[in-house]
Amino acid sequence: ILEMKGIKKRFSGEEILKGIDLSCKEGEVLSIIGPSGSGKSTLLRIATFLESADSGTILYDGKTVFQREAQSESLRKEGDSIGWDTANRQQAKALFGLVFQNFNLFPHWTVLENIIAPLIHVQKKEKTYAVEKGMALLERMGLSDKAGQYPYSLSGGQKQRVAIARALALEPKILFFDEPTSALDPELTGEVLELIRSLKNEQMAMVIVTHEMGFAREISDKILFMAEGEVLCQGTSEELFNSENLRLKNFLGNFR
Ligand code: ATP
Ligand code: MG
Repeated sequence: ILEMKGIKKRFSGEEILKGIDLSCKEGEVLSIIGPSGSGKSTLLRIATFLESADSGTILYDGKTVFQREAQSESLRKEGDSIGWDTANRQQAKALFGLVFQNFNLFPHWTVLENIIAPLIHVQKKEKTYAVEKGMALLERMGLSDKAGQYPYSLSGGQKQRVAIARALALEPKILFFDEPTSALDPELTGEVLELIRSLKNEQMAMVIVTHEMGFAREISDKILFMAEGEVLCQGTSEELFNSENLRLKNFLGNFR
């Protein structure tokens, strides 16, 4: 469903991504682990079109959405539109959802309004259909009684479950998570991880950036270990957690 090849990115002269290759098949759970500053969020932002790569290729469902050759510094400054295939990019937007660390709910909208807004405004669905779907999702999240409340009155774990419901409402084929539990205390982390676990096997692919090593080990079909802008190791949980790579062993420390 997603393929990224040779993704490079610089910020003010510093190479943050040094040519990343990543692929995620339909229904697959891919975790990305690595030290702070290794470029994990930047990679997700590029995969979800929030940022442009300096060079590399991005394909969704086999269609090229972005392709840019490595080029000189001066050319790169011409603008962000370089490399994007506008039509394919628009189509691909319907394929993915994104869940952030800080939930990104609209504070002045109720829980239900947060969930149905993209259904109505992006997918142009009827309000009655959207409300029905939103309520069904809330029920599944165990939050039916919160539909009319505003985000400030929810716990962090509840907010994150609403954010996940909002993403699911659009029925993505691939859902990205950027440290979905790092703003939560351990107890609330558990409830959100449990929810993500329950999403596995729904034929939806998931790409999860996480510092929860036990969780990554358990849920992932494949894990990428990134450090200093490079993928140093990739493989199954089994392979990664038994790897002899010193950098990875050091990073995993007690988790092995
Ligand atoms: P963490 O685990 O702490 O979330 P990360 O692996 O997600 O780290 P990134 O957020 O991708 O790392 O950042 C990688 C590097 O790129 C960092 O040194 C960061 O300061 C830099 N960086 C990220 N975004 C920008 C930006 N918009 N402008 C300048 N530098 C940036
Ligand atoms: Mg990050």
